[in-house]
Amino acid sequence: MTDTELGAILGERVANVRARIEAARARSGEAASGVKLVAVTKTVSARVAALVVELGVTDLGESRPQALWQKAEAVPGATWHMIGHLQRNKLERTIPLVSLVHSVDSERLLHALDAFGRARGAPVPVLLEVNCSGEAAKGGFAPDAVPVAPLPGVQVLGLMTMAAREGDPRPAFARLRELRDALVPGGELSMGMSNDFEVAVEEGATLVRVGTTLFEGLGE
Ligand SMILES: *Cc1c(COP(=O)(O)O)cnc(C)c1O
Repeated sequence: MTDTELGAILGERVANVRARIEAARARSGEAASGVKLVAVTKTVSARVAALVVELGVTDLGESRPQALWQKAEAVPGATWHMIGHLQRNKLERTIPLVSLVHSVDSERLLHALDAFGRARGAPVPVLLEVNCSGEAAKGGFAPDAVPVAPLPGVQVLGLMTMAAREGDPRPAFARLRELRDALVPGGELSMGMSNDFEVAVEEGATLVRVGTTLFEGLGE
């Protein structure tokens, strides 16, 4: 496919996702402020990622540090979000490239980020990942064990979760919102993927992470 053909397909999909976000926002009773669309580029090349940036979706997410490093170099004008498991030995190279780490899923990582932020003299902006679905296979803090003590080297801007693949995602999203209200009032809520982003927006998401709906079939 030429860039023009790819751009046309992507443009249509972006418009469609944005319209669905707006409609969900209108349905939510909330005085919802902006919902940021994070395009998850893990299944596509830097070329496709660059095209989506040209279409105005400048927030991009990657779940693997190495892929993020590679695309961050190759895609101009993007703001990067680290949304997957981050190993402590990859902080040095990853943190300077990203605007937000969504996936702080353990005390060990949190403390490594704190040390990193103190050493560089600027706190690292993060979200704490919460396992709201109770699935053992999913990472993140249990809802009753989200670390709340402030640390000088990290700036906790909000919470993130992934709903279970099966079943109604709404209870998990509502639970995350309650936790956010209690622990990080006014903070960010990163929730919602291709299958469930509209429900997430209805429940107050401020960041949705969408991959498949934008990029299906365009991996190359
Ligand atoms: C892959 C991924 C997404 C995007 O998922 P889709 O279902 O493809 O939209 C969102 N969040 C995380 C953490 C992911 O790993």
